[in-house]
Amino acid sequence: MRVTNLNPADTIGASAWLVETGGHHILLDAGTHPGEEGSAALPLYSSVADVDVEAIAISHCHHDHCGSLPVALQHFPRARVVMTEPSYFLVERVLHNSVNVMKRQREERGIAEYPLYHHREIDELSYLFQGFRYGHVEPWGSFDSENPTAPSPTVSFHHAGHVLGSAGLRVAHGRESLFFTGDVCFHDQTLTPKADFEGVQADVLILETTRGATETPSGFSRDDEAKRLIAAIRAGLERRAGVLVPVFALGRTQEVLGEIALAMQRGDLKRQPIYIGGLGRVFTEIYDLVSNRAPNRRPDLNLHEALDLQVLERNELEKIKPDGRLFVITAGMMSEHTLAHELALRMAPVEKHAILFVGYAAPETPAGKLRAAARGKPFQFSNSDGALTRNCEMQIFDLSAHAYREELLDFAVHLNPRSVILGHGEPDARDWIEVELRARLPRLNILQPMPGETLSV
Ligand SMILES: [Zn+2]
Ligand SMILES: [Zn+2]
Repeated sequence: MRVTNLNPADTIGASAWLVETGGHHILLDAGTHPGEEGSAALPLYSSVADVDVEAIAISHCHHDHCGSLPVALQHFPRARVVMTEPSYFLVERVLHNSVNVMKRQREERGIAEYPLYHHREIDELSYLFQGFRYGHVEPWGSFDSENPTAPSPTVSFHHAGHVLGSAGLRVAHGRESLFFTGDVCFHDQTLTPKADFEGVQADVLILETTRGATETPSGFSRDDEAKRLIAAIRAGLERRAGVLVPVFALGRTQEVLGEIALAMQRGDLKRQPIYIGGLGRVFTEIYDLVSNRAPNRRPDLNLHEALDLQVLERNELEKIKPDGRLFVITAGMMSEHTLAHELALRMAPVEKHAILFVGYAAPETPAGKLRAAARGKPFQFSNSDGALTRNCEMQIFDLSAHAYREELLDFAVHLNPRSVILGHGEPDARDWIEVELRARLPRLNILQPMPGETLSV
């Protein structure tokens, strides 16, 4: 088997792995790098331009895993695209939104290459997309007329516990097998139960390492963290503050809404409208509609029925007074021109308001800068705005959708493959995992391929 790392960066970057087995090629993920612009955000497709890729398998519908799918299909026009059933319902919405974002960035920031693909292109390609049940084993090798009875390589989908539709992908061919975790969570979230990789066997493991450099505090419990979040929301609303929870539209939004719905059912939070963004609404709708096609901890909880969700339109933003209102709104990184960014500009200077973070924010993003800013000290929030001073309450809650680093180690040790390829993490995160794994499995072959590097495993 040969594995090529197509991530253009040495960081989390854009997920894309080319796997060759017995002369067949499959691409695992087709992401974009959230910290780069234009073609610099793309995986290194041009470096493998002459390869006949027969299939593209998508682990889940976050941009860093599927955002360049139409570009991948420009390079590999013969490929079919396989994913889980829930991802099938999500992927086109994610890609169309990405066209809108790129068009806006072309106008505002003058990025001439944008958009990298068009709405019509997505529509025309969508007939290639197929959704499969968890556990399904799909043959993907193209027919070989010289060897018509040769068995096809397969790919199967295993519940990864990260977000609706997320899957670990197992590729097998003859005696060769590889397992790619995608983004994985080994503990229960509010709606999404932990990963189910029971019974998976593989010689080669591609392991995500997002939290490799993040220590898990002793005695940490996600349930306590969720209770702390609900208490902070309640305290804010009781003092008639505006409460802003910046979130990603897919995954974080629904997990936080789920936690709020349960708190309202218990009587821990008073019922009141919750303001969400347009894209958050779309994905919440899909969560409600297809949750029966994925493992689900709250099959009876319908978020639209349980909550009074109000979509906040951009043109209403200026008129609305934040006081006493709850916003669970995009974007998680508070990028410029998003609703969360505009609300933070108004709320941060006012002492009584509260901004509550629930996940990761890259340090160089507006959210990262706001989190790092000391109360009362002016700082540069984003490029288009001047100095901002945070006087409001600010808290961070660890409601991660990624496995804790000890869980990643335990899984690798349990799987006991011949080789482990470390990816989708910052260098210090991968290094921590490598050192700890080496201590536990001294004979394991541990690899950290650089961008564009091909490994024989
Ligand atoms: Zn993800
Ligand atoms: Zn990811």
